Amino acid sequence: MTSPRAKTLGFKAGERNIFFHLLTACNLSCVHCYIDSAQHGTNMVSRDEIAAWLRLFAESEKKSNVIFLGGEPTMHPDLAFGIKTARELGYQSVTVDSNGFLFHDLLDKIAADEVVISFSLDGPAPEVNDPIRGHDVFRVCTENLTKTVSRGFDVSVIFTVSRMNINHLDRMPELLKELGVKRFFIQVIGFRGKSASARDKLQITPDEWLAKIPPAAAQAAEMGIKVIYPKVFLDKDEIFQCAGQVAENYFIFPNGRVYQCPLCEDFPVNSMRIQDNRLLKNEGLTEDRFFTLEIAEGCVMNKLLQPGNIVYDNKGRPRHRISCCLLKQEMTASG
Ligand code: SF4
Ligand code: SF4
Repeated sequence: MTSPRAKTLGFKAGERNIFFHLLTACNLSCVHCYIDSAQHGTNMVSRDEIAAWLRLFAESEKKSNVIFLGGEPTMHPDLAFGIKTARELGYQSVTVDSNGFLFHDLLDKIAADEVVISFSLDGPAPEVNDPIRGHDVFRVCTENLTKTVSRGFDVSVIFTVSRMNINHLDRMPELLKELGVKRFFIQVIGFRGKSASARDKLQITPDEWLAKIPPAAAQAAEMGIKVIYPKVFLDKDEIFQCAGQVAENYFIFPNGRVYQCPLCEDFPVNSMRIQDNRLLKNEGLTEDRFFTLEIAEGCVMNKLLQPGNIVYDNKGRPRHRISCCLLKQEMTASG
C-alpha cells in the first residue's frame, strides 16, 4: 500500500456549503460545547422555515451541500422532512451531524441514500469519551452507529481534539475500523488560551497539534479510512485565502443570523440575516469588513480571537501563517 499523504482541499468555486442549525437545544452538555443561545436564540426553526430557508440557498447552477446541525438536530421533529426537502431541491449532499442519540426514529423515516450521518465521538472508550460528552454516551452513540451502518447508511465520525483526549486519538482508527466507519473528521477545540475560563483545561498547543494529529491521521489512513482535519498552519509556499472572500459558506442559526465565518459566530457581526424568509444583507461593522484585511499572520479573525496559536520569531515575525479555519487537509492511503 502507498504511504498515506496529506493534500489540502482547496476552496471550490461554484460550490456552496450550508451549515443549517435547526435548533440550539440539546440533550447533552459536553464540556467543550460552543452553542451560545444568547447569540443564536432558543427557538426551533419551524417546518415551513426549514423549507423556505433551504430554498433561499438552493441554486440550480451551483453544487450545494447542506449539513444539519444543532444543538442536536435529531431532536427536531421535522428533520426527516428537511432531509427530503433538501433532496427535492437538488442539494448534492445532505449530512446530519448528530451526538448519536438519533431521536424521533430518524432511521425509520429516511432512506440510506438520502443522507450521510456523522456521529460525534470524543474517545475510543467510555473512560475517555464520557467525561467529555456525558454518562453512558459512548454506549448509546456506538450502538446507534452500528445500527446505522447495518441499515446501509454512509456514516462518518467527528472527533474534537482537546487536552482531555489527545493522548487517546491513536486508538480511534482501530475502533472506527471495527465499527465500519470509512471517514474520520478530526477537529480542534479553539486554541484560545489566555483567559481563565474552563477552556484553558481543554486547549492544546500548536506544537501538540503538529506532533500528534498528522501521525494519527496517517495511521487511520493506513487502515483505509479517509481522514479530514483542519490545515491550521500554512506552509511557506502556500497562499493564504479567506473563505469569506473566495468560497460560499453560510452558517445559519435559528434566530435568522447568517454568518460566513465560523469564528465570528459568538458575536453579533453576521453579514446577513433571514427575515420573513428573505435573505438580507446587514449594514455596519459586520464580519465581511475583516475578510479583506491582509496581515502577516494570515487569518485576521484568528489573530483577534485566538492569538495564542501564533508564534513569533525574535524579530517579531510570525513563524507560521494561520490558514482559514475552513481549509482542510485530507489524508488517504493513496494520497
Ligand atoms: S452534542 Fe453538540 S450541541 Fe450537544 S452539548 Fe454536545 S457539543 Fe453541544
Ligand atoms: S476563519 Fe479567517 S480566513 Fe476563514 S472566513 Fe473567517 S476570517 Fe476568513
